[in-house]
Amino acid sequence: MKLLEHQAKEHLRRVGIECPTGRVARSPQEAEKAAQEMGPVVVKAQVPIGGRGKAGGVKLAQTPAQAHAAAAAILGIEIHGYSVPSVLCEEALEIAKEIYLGVTVDRDRRSMVVILSFAGGMEIEEVAEHSPEKIAKLWPDPFAGPQPFQIRELTLRALEAVGGDETLPKARYLAELVPVVQRLFQLSQELDASLCEINPLVVTKSGQVIAGDAKIEIDQNAEFRHHDLVRELGPDASAATSGEDSLEVEARRRGLTYVHLGGSVGIIGNGAGLVMNTLDLVKQHGGTAANFLDIGGGAKAEVVKQALEMLLLDPAVKGVFVNIFGGITRGDEVARGLISARDELGLHLPLVVRMTGTREEEGRQLLEEAGITPAVSAAEAARKIVELIGAGGGG
Ligand code: GDP
Ligand code: MN
Repeated sequence: MKLLEHQAKEHLRRVGIECPTGRVARSPQEAEKAAQEMGPVVVKAQVPIGGRGKAGGVKLAQTPAQAHAAAAAILGIEIHGYSVPSVLCEEALEIAKEIYLGVTVDRDRRSMVVILSFAGGMEIEEVAEHSPEKIAKLWPDPFAGPQPFQIRELTLRALEAVGGDETLPKARYLAELVPVVQRLFQLSQELDASLCEINPLVVTKSGQVIAGDAKIEIDQNAEFRHHDLVRELGPDASAATSGEDSLEVEARRRGLTYVHLGGSVGIIGNGAGLVMNTLDLVKQHGGTAANFLDIGGGAKAEVVKQALEMLLLDPAVKGVFVNIFGGITRGDEVARGLISARDELGLHLPLVVRMTGTREEEGRQLLEEAGITPAVSAAEAARKIVELIGAGGGG
């Protein structure tokens, strides 16, 4: 999952890395208004991919009229397959120097690596390819993280690699980079990021060190540890960011048979036919299904819990309808899974269960003891969940 620049910068700010003031605009008018309040701005396409500058997605605007024009020129264009839905208007920087700073995974060394280069900016790929000696690296201890002395040493190596840099005195570089590197590394650990990158880390003409760009990619295998982030992005944003529906990606990782449909009623059933039938029932009763999720035959409590947890990753889900036809799937297992999931996940959404078949009585009893009233029929359950979600969420 890739965060957009403005989202990534929120995280940088949170850990104390300086970023320019900015505002997201979805229309030329909004960009114009932002420029009226902020003065000269840089207008930047918000797409989850680099190389925006070269693709015409980054434009300087001295006046509100120019900001309007820049946003009009950028919004809706396509950059490497992503059409641009919004722009970030940021106070323009007077750039004296562009530094590359990144924290990523070095698979060969099986370690995180901090990468620093004083030949940063849009040409960093060319630098990496044709003059890799201009790039300095540090492989910090995974538990201790990069130590100040190591970062100073890295900085000296990076400076030496380009034959020195006069934009700031050496002592200032040493002092400025230590906290930035430490915070970026700490952030990458906290977010399970496969990449945290600032390119350019700008030195302004007045000597301020500030993040001109930010790129954060969360390791897909760790997304389950960052429910907040997934929710914050929403399914659309994360779909845009990963190029694939991130909920479906996550479901696949969990070994669940899941299709994201986009409505508000989360659905769990056993058997593809029953789930299809459940989708129809919800539709018939005026609801929209959030998903197709088949827990299959013989599902154990743990799978039921997994399934419920999966549905809760989708911020559009306003209620859950569980439809179980017991055969090899046992009602008491399903009930146990639901109850423990509800309690452990702190489920606060309406939950409606319809259960028939094997161990139906035991299952129903468990549910009732736990305060969940099973519906008598699937149709009744469908009516009930749509009603509970209400007009607001049913659409
Ligand atoms: P990317 O091309 O997707 O990596 O987008 P960046 O945010 O890195 O912007 C590309 C380039 O635009 C930077 O390397 C800078 O040279 C330039 N740029 C970005 N922001 C500013 C700014 O505020 N002022 C100036 N003068 N240039 C900027
Ligand atoms: Mn960049």
